[in-house]
Formats: sequence, structure tokens, C-alpha cells
Amino acid sequence: MNKEKRFLPDLNPEQLAALQLEGLKWTVAHACSGSPAYREKFDQARIKPEDITSLADIEKLPFTTVEDLRRGYPLPLLSVPQEQIVRIHASSGTTGKRKILAYTQKDIDTWKVMMARCFELAGLTTLDRVQIAVGYGLWTAGVGFQLGCEHFGAMAVPLGPGNLDFQLQFLTDLQPACLCSTASMALLLAEQVEKMGLQDRIKLKKLIFGAEPHTPKMRRKIEQTLDLEDSFDIPGMTEVYGPGTGLECWEHKGMHYWADIFILEIVDPVSLKPVQPGQTGEMVITTLRKEGVPLIRYRTRDLTRILPDPCPCGLNLPRHDRILGRSDDMFIFRGVNIYPGQIAEILEGFKDISSEYLITLDRKKGLDFMQISVERKESASADNDSHLAGLISAQIRKKVMVRAEVDIQGPGKLPRSMGKSRRILDQRDQD
Ligand code: ADP
Ligand code: ZN
Repeated sequence: MNKEKRFLPDLNPEQLAALQLEGLKWTVAHACSGSPAYREKFDQARIKPEDITSLADIEKLPFTTVEDLRRGYPLPLLSVPQEQIVRIHASSGTTGKRKILAYTQKDIDTWKVMMARCFELAGLTTLDRVQIAVGYGLWTAGVGFQLGCEHFGAMAVPLGPGNLDFQLQFLTDLQPACLCSTASMALLLAEQVEKMGLQDRIKLKKLIFGAEPHTPKMRRKIEQTLDLEDSFDIPGMTEVYGPGTGLECWEHKGMHYWADIFILEIVDPVSLKPVQPGQTGEMVITTLRKEGVPLIRYRTRDLTRILPDPCPCGLNLPRHDRILGRSDDMFIFRGVNIYPGQIAEILEGFKDISSEYLITLDRKKGLDFMQISVERKESASADNDSHLAGLISAQIRKKVMVRAEVDIQGPGKLPRSMGKSRRILDQRDQD
């Protein structure tokens, strides 16, 4: 870890609270004067910028939702004159219509610092080379990593996602110390490195991975195969600039987030009331200095919890747990609400299967059926498949209280992704 903090803030709780209050007041006034949509929301809630005099007053503010972003498509919640916008980005559209977000130059500069903090926290140096294997262009991922990497002063190797041969060539020729990708892409690369016996020719030390939930099994496989010193989960979303709203520290006890740049609340997704500290709920974000499209109590639909205790790493920055999934991922199967993460957690306990899984939902004669496809590890014997499938199925019945057919496939047989992996295939509406 670099001793000198060039980008990471070092604020005591009083300084942080003062910054947050100032940012909150500014954001509410800015949104109210710049965006008719926000003004209308405030009018409806009978709230004026002057009513915000303390941090606790945040609860008086109305929530902003993904519907607000869709309603204003293509430039929703724009709060500055268009001439101040220097760029747009769009979300990858994992759930529904994509959202377009507009940035001022100051927004880009804020994001640049957020991402540079990530590289600093991951312990990189300006001598390091960073292979960026995420989507460039309209998506925030590639551009975000690149901005931060250059601002930090390391060398960006901007490959984008895809093209495994190309990735391997750069990994062996340029020997980057750090790879930035989704967990799925890192797994795919690790498997390819293993298959081709390239372990000795690459010198990767670190992985910064995000954009989708991962399981500990997946992470272990990547770390071991690529012989990494460390890996860091990175949260982020297009609405809040892009990747890099925080990062895990080397203690791997949750993610530190940039509380001087946004306020994070965790609310119960049904009652919309704040949960008790440490309880899981929906992340709600209020930006503190975002100009183009400020967010006020934006319901992200991502689920996590605050980790209230100080982190053993000593950083003066609050933490949230890893993102467990999004509320949109929940599916209802025979009346039971299920998150893919619950299934993943059960599969985690079986050492003879890999980290990959696919849940397929079907409807036959009006009845729902679930099939869970998993992969046998190289080291396990196919003779044991039906016994293993029975054990997994029994665990699912016990823990999630539904019946699922477990289908065990050979090593590497499930689809791999160079971006975000799809874990649910819902074919129930195709009757
Ligand atoms: P979308 O996928 O909704 O089109 P983005 O491309 O902006 O939008 O991706 C942001 C979303 O990706 C987040 O809201 C979250 O659900 C997911 N995500 C991002 N980083 C992580 C992470 N480290 N762990 C789990 N999920 C993540
Ligand atoms: Zn820490």
C-alpha cells in the first residue's frame, strides 16, 4: 500500500459530515433550479432547498427511481444547460431499457479522481501496466478505468472485452501487473491461461473486478489459476458516474466507498424506511457534487448492507458489504421469492462442482419447473453425478424450500461470458 495518499481522502467524521451537508444543500438547490423534473418532485413533496439544514433532513426528500430516468429519456433529470454537457454514457441495459446519463467536465473530473482512488487503494504504482478488458464506448466501464488509470499515472493497456487471443498476447508480451474486468471475463481468461499452460509467462499480480456479483469459489479459482497476490471487488453504476464508487481494501472486509462524493442510505425496499445499521436493504444514493444529472435519494435496486465497525485497515472511509444482487434479479417460483445469490450460496458448499451455474425456468402444463445446471470439476468423477445431483437438490429443498432438478455437466460446458454472466434463463412466458 502506498503510504502517501494522493487521491484517497483522509477526513475525520466531523469534516466528512460538514462536507456532506454542504454537498447535500448544494445538490438540492442545484437540482431544483436546474431541472423541471426535480422541481416538480420537490413541489409535490412540498419541500424547498431551504428546508434542508441538517444531514438528517435527507429523509424529507423524495426518492428518485429508475422510472424518473426513463420518463425523461433521452436526457433525464438534466440539471445544467445542454452546452455544459461534454459527454453521455449509457448503462448496459441488463434490466430493461438502457438509461442515458449526461456528464459535465466537472463530473468527468470527479469520476477520474474516484477511479484513481481505486488504483491507489489496490496498491498499484505508476510503474504498473493495467490491462483494461471491459467495454469501451457508450458504456462507462472502459472509459472509467482508463481515465482513472491515467490520472493515477499507471500505464493503461486499453484492450476492451473479448478476443481471448489478443488478451493473452498482451498479457504475455506486456506483462501487465493488473487486470480490470468482470469476474466472468477473469474466469474465462484464467481457464484459457491454464489450458494453454501460460502461467509462467504472465506476471499479473492484481485483479480489479466488478459489474456483476461473484462467488468466493469463482474468486478463488481466478486467484489460484493466475497466481495473483490480491484481487479487489469494485462497485459502481452508470447513474453514479460509472465504475469506482469505492473499492475493497486489502483486508477484504467489504468495500470502502467515497462518502465525500455521495451519501449512501440503506432502506427497506418495501417500507422505504432506513434499516438498522448492518441490515441488508436497498442502496439509496445521493450525490454531493454531480452537476449534469445529480441524484437525490436514487433507488439503485442493488442490495447490500453497511458495515458499521471501523475497518482494520485503518482507512477513514465507511464501508458497505459486497453487492449481493439486485432486487430485479428476484424471481418467483411456485410462490417462493428467490434470488440467484441464494442458489449460488448453496452451490458454494459443494467442492466437486465449479463456480458456474445457470438456472432455467420453464412452464409445462401450467406448472413451473426449475433446472439448475452446474459443472463437474476436472478432479471429480462422472460416476458420482447422480448422487451429487441428489445431494444438491436436497439442500435446495431444505434451504429454499423448492424442488429443482439438478443437471451436472462436464467441466467447462456451461456458457462463459466476457461481460456480465447471465444466471437465469426464464422461459416461462414462452408457452
Ligand atoms: P445495468 O447493468 O443496470 O445496465 P450498469 O452497466 O451501469 O447498468 O451496471 C451497474 C450494475 O451492475 C449495478 O447496479 C449492479 O447491479 C451491478 N454491479 C456493478 N458492480 C458490481 C459488483 N462489484 N458486484 C455486484 N454487482 C455489481
Ligand atoms: Zn479497509
